[in-house]
Amino acid sequence: MLVDSFNRKHDYLRISLTDKCNLRCLYCMPVDLPESFLATRSMMNVDEIVAIAKVFVDLGVTKIRLTGGEPLVRKEVREIISRLAKFPVQLALTTNAVLVDEYIDLFVETGLRSVNVSLDSLEASTFEILSQRKHFSKVVANIQLLLDRGFHVKLNMVVLKEVNHKEIPAFVEMTKNAHLHVRFIEFMPFKGNGWDKQQVFSSDEIISLINKNFQFHKLTDRPHDTARNFRVDNHVGTFAIISTMTEPFCDTCNRLRLTSDGKMKNCLFSNGEADILSALRKGDDLVPIIRQCVWQKKAARGGQMMGDLGDISAENIDNRSMISIGG
Ligand code: SAM
Ligand code: SF4
Repeated sequence: MLVDSFNRKHDYLRISLTDKCNLRCLYCMPVDLPESFLATRSMMNVDEIVAIAKVFVDLGVTKIRLTGGEPLVRKEVREIISRLAKFPVQLALTTNAVLVDEYIDLFVETGLRSVNVSLDSLEASTFEILSQRKHFSKVVANIQLLLDRGFHVKLNMVVLKEVNHKEIPAFVEMTKNAHLHVRFIEFMPFKGNGWDKQQVFSSDEIISLINKNFQFHKLTDRPHDTARNFRVDNHVGTFAIISTMTEPFCDTCNRLRLTSDGKMKNCLFSNGEADILSALRKGDDLVPIIRQCVWQKKAARGGQMMGDLGDISAENIDNRSMISIGG
């Protein structure tokens, strides 16, 4: 079991398969990033991903989520999913859904049933402004495909004030007849993403906007939930709020991260990283390196964003871009 100095137990690993993507979401990918994509040799190859994952599984990890960048653009993704699915873990995926139709049969065959999809707008024009690509219809069709095939689907919407916040009620309306879990995520600061606190549409603002349109009730959150969950009365699906900026949920965090170049991060906002891939290539024992990284985990938000929203300044945050961490 991986336990930190605050007695938090860690059994959930998020593995980034690539820092590349077929979308260019403004809040995620820095403007200069396409020139700085990682070279293949600095990334974990398939055998290395599987070998590192095995060490984490032996240390008590029971859930692995594949992310990125866009995990489905990694050319060996079939082999990676097939091999990781053999571990005794719940395997899950976070994707922009552009390529889901190409891989959905593989998901079924391997038992990958939980898919989180990012969708920031229900209007093609806003989707294209935010993602800088014209894949709206494909994404919407693939979300429907996942629902039709009985997948457990969470829809992630990053809420940006005056860009898409007015669409929150329309997203909640989607939960009326579909077994869909919509999650509203507060805009977070990462390297090069132009974060501005004025653009954060807070959890309180989200709740009050939904309150004007729906009658809803609180659901019981599960022990390690990073979201507060709600259901509109008589709706089939649910909605949730991920309030990282205004009400962080670090007390019960059970997550660890592995970047596509094999660096371990004990928090999304940590500035320290443990170089697991180099250690593996040298033949070192990974267990003490992993244990030490977990032990060094800070109480909240990587020890970087202390205080309230008003106190946070993007320039003072030392971290990678979101796309190169793996969200
Ligand atoms: N490409 C996949 C996708 O978009 O779902 C997986 C990787 S993406 C980095 C994972 C999640 O991080 C997405 O739901 C995305 O919306 C979220 N994300 C990226 N940048 C963010 C930011 N600045 N604030 C909040 N969430 C962000
Ligand atoms: Fe790509 Fe996901 Fe980042 Fe958008 S949020 S640029 S889809 S990695």
